[in-house]
Amino acid sequence: KMRKDVNAVDSPYDLEGKGEENDNIGYFTKKKLHVWCRLSNWVWRSGTIQSTSGEESVVTLSNGNVVKVSTSELLPANPGVLEGMDDLIQLSYLNEPSLLHNLKHRYSQDMIYSKAGPVLIAVNPFKDVQIYGKDFVTSYRQKATDSPHVFAIAENAYKEMMNDGVNQSIIISGESGAGKTETAKFAMQYLAALGGGNGGKECEILQTHCLLEAFGNAKTSWNDNSSRFGKLIEIHFTTLGKISGAKIQTCKHSRVVQLTAGERSYHIFYQLCAGAPPTLRERLNLKAANEYNYLVQSESLVINGVDDAQKFQKLKEALDIVQICEEEQEQAFAMLAAVLWLGNISFQVIGKENHVEASADEALTSAARLMGCAPDELMQAISTHRIQAGRDSICKKMTLQQAIDARDALAKFIYASLFDWLVEQINKSLEGGKKHFGRSISIIDICGFESFKKNSFEQLCVNYANERLQQHFIRHLFKLEQEEYELDGIDWTKVDFEDNQECLDLFEKKPLGLLSLLDEESNLPNSTDFTLANKLRQHLNSNSYFRGDRGRAFGVRHFAGEVLYDTNCFLDKNRDALNPEVVQLLSSCNGQLPQLFAKNMLNQSLEPAISLDAPKQTVGAKFKGQVFKLMHQLENTRPHFICCIKPNTKQLPGMFEEDIVLQQLRCYGILEVIRVSRSGYPTRMTHQAFAERYGFLLLETNVSQDPLSISVALLKQFNVLPQMYQIGYTKLFLRTGQISALEDRRKQV
Ligand code: ATP
Ligand code: MG
Repeated sequence: KMRKDVNAVDSPYDLEGKGEENDNIGYFTKKKLHVWCRLSNWVWRSGTIQSTSGEESVVTLSNGNVVKVSTSELLPANPGVLEGMDDLIQLSYLNEPSLLHNLKHRYSQDMIYSKAGPVLIAVNPFKDVQIYGKDFVTSYRQKATDSPHVFAIAENAYKEMMNDGVNQSIIISGESGAGKTETAKFAMQYLAALGGGNGGKECEILQTHCLLEAFGNAKTSWNDNSSRFGKLIEIHFTTLGKISGAKIQTCKHSRVVQLTAGERSYHIFYQLCAGAPPTLRERLNLKAANEYNYLVQSESLVINGVDDAQKFQKLKEALDIVQICEEEQEQAFAMLAAVLWLGNISFQVIGKENHVEASADEALTSAARLMGCAPDELMQAISTHRIQAGRDSICKKMTLQQAIDARDALAKFIYASLFDWLVEQINKSLEGGKKHFGRSISIIDICGFESFKKNSFEQLCVNYANERLQQHFIRHLFKLEQEEYELDGIDWTKVDFEDNQECLDLFEKKPLGLLSLLDEESNLPNSTDFTLANKLRQHLNSNSYFRGDRGRAFGVRHFAGEVLYDTNCFLDKNRDALNPEVVQLLSSCNGQLPQLFAKNMLNQSLEPAISLDAPKQTVGAKFKGQVFKLMHQLENTRPHFICCIKPNTKQLPGMFEEDIVLQQLRCYGILEVIRVSRSGYPTRMTHQAFAERYGFLLLETNVSQDPLSISVALLKQFNVLPQMYQIGYTKLFLRTGQISALEDRRKQV
C-alpha cells in the first residue's frame, strides 16, 4: 500500500477512500504519475512506478535508474501545476518529500518565504536578496501583493492591533544561524516604516540592533553573528498607530572568559580594539586584540567580511542616537578595557602552600586605574579572601586556581553589569520618560538551539529557553486550536503532534528536575562535576527525555535533537560566585559605573530568595526567571509565528541540504501544523456575532430570530458548502477564505 496522508482533503488526484488503496498505486502506475521513493530516512527521489507485485514495486527514478522498493516506501508526488506553491497547505499530497521539494524549488528561485498555514517559513538565503526595499514596504502596505514575507506578517500584526485593539507578538524560532535576528530586524524595519513620523522614535529603535549586537553577539562555529542573549522588543503605538516608544527585555547567561576554537568573544571587544581613535586608546591604554588573553584564546580574531573598526564608528553613532552622552560612553569603554586588562593579570606563587599574589605589572595597574582603584586594592580583592575566625576575620591568600577564578568572575561580573546598564540606558531613551498605556507589538528573538561537539551550561540554558518557546508554539498551534474544536463539539479528527511538555518537566520540576538538582548540588560544599552527574542520573534516569551517560556526561532529548552535555564547570558557572571582597572593592572604586554595579549586586542579594532551598539565586534560577518573564509577556498577546530554517551548516548561499532542512521541519512539526490548519477552521465567530454582523443580508423573512437559526439561514443563502463550515455549540467555524465572500457582500450594501 502506498502510505497515505490521513488528513488529506479532496483533490482530483486523490483516490484515497475510494475503493482499495491499491487503486491508488494502480492509478499512479497507469497514468505514469510521479511518486516519491524513499531511499533512506532522509533521502527521497522522484520517479514513476513501472509495476507492482505484492508488497514490492519497480520504480524508474528521474535519473533513469530502476529500483525495486517496498511499496510502503512510496508516497504520491504533487502534479507539476502545484510546483512552488506559496502556501504549503495548497499541496494536494501532503508528505515530507513534497514539502521539501516545494521549499527547495522556491529557494532555488530566491523565494525564501513560504507559508505553512498560519506559520511563515523563512529559509536563510545567506546572501542579499533584494526584497526588503521601500518598494516592498509599499507593496505590502497597500496590499498590492500577498506573497509570503516577513513584511506580510508584520502588516498583519499591525492591522490586527489597529482593528481589534489587541496586543500582538511576532515569535521567531529556529536553530542557531537560521536567521531569527535578521528576520526580527526586517519586521522592525517594516513596523518603523508604518508607525514612523512621530518624533523619530523609530530611528532610535532601529539603532538598538547595532548596540545590542555589539555587546550581546559573538562568532560561534555555527554563526558569525550569534546572539548570546534572548530579547523581546515591545514596540509601543499610539491609538493613531504611531510609534510612541519601545521597551527591551533580555535574558542571558554570561560568557566572556571561556572560548573554544572557531569562536570569538563579544564583538564589542574587537570593535573597540580596532576602531578606538588614538586619544581614546591612550586614555584606556588600549592594545590590539591579539595582546589580550581573553581574546587570543581562540585563533579567530577577525570575521570574514567584517570590518570591526568601521563597526565601531557605527556603534558610536548609535550610542549618540540613543542619547548616551560622551562621558557615559567613555566610562563604558573604560569598563571594557578593564575587563580586557583583567584577563592579562597573572599570578605568582609565593611560599610553600601554593599561595599566590597578582604580579604588579602593566595589566594590574591598567585594570586598577580603569576601574578607579589602587593596584594593591585590586590585587588584594582577587588574591585573598577573608575567613571568619571566631569574632575576628583573617585574611587568607588564595591558591592559583582560586585567584584565577576570582579574577575571571570579576571580569564576567563587570561585563554582565555593563550589558544590563546599556539595556537600561537604551530603555530610558526609548521610553522617553513616559509611561506606556497604548497598544503594542512584541518581537521575540532568542538564541537558537545549539548542539556542539562539546556542550556546557550555556548550551543547557539556551536549549531550555528554546524548549519553552517551542511549548508556546505547540500550545497555540496544536493544543488550544484543537481543544477549541473539541469543546465546541464539532466533528474533528485529532492531529497528533510531538508535545515537549515532558522535556520541560525534566528541566522545571521541583524538587527533582534538572535545574533544581543543579541548584541543590551547587549549594553543597563538597560537590563536584561527578557528584552532580551522579545525582542527575540517580533522580532522572526514569524520565525518557534524559539519558545518563558515563562519567560527567548526560544527554537530553530536546525537541530539536538529542544533546550530550558535559558537566565540567557546571557548578561554578551556575554559582557564578563573586567574592564579597570584590563587591566591596567595586563599591569603593572611584567611578560611577563600578559603584552602580556593586550597588545593584547588593540590592539583588537583599531580594528574598525564590525558594528556601536556594539561598542565593543561581545563574540557572535567574535565567529561568527571565525566560518565564518573557513568556508571560507573550501570553497576553495574539501570536504570529515565523519559523527560520537553516538550509545548510556551512553558512553558504544556494545550498539546500535536504536532510538538514527536513530535520528542522520535523522538529518544528511543520507537517502537522499544515495538517491542523488544512483540516481546520481558522474563522470562528459566535452565532450571536455572526448573526449581528450579517443578519441584515438575509433575504428570507420567515426565519426564527435566534442567532443560530439566522446563521444557518445565511450560510444556506450564500451557498456555503457543507464541508466548508461546522456549527459548534457556541460558535460557527469556517474554513479559510469563506468569510471573504460574506464580507464583500456586506461592504457592497
Ligand atoms: P543565533 O541563534 O545564533 O543568534 P540567528 O537565527 O539569529 O542565530 P542570524 O544571525 O539572524 O541567525 O542569521 C545568520 C546569518 O544568516 C546572518 O548573519 C546573515 O548573514 C544571514 N541571513 C539570515 N537571514 C537573512 C536574510 N533574510 N537575508 C540575507 N541574509 C540573511
Ligand atoms: Mg540571533
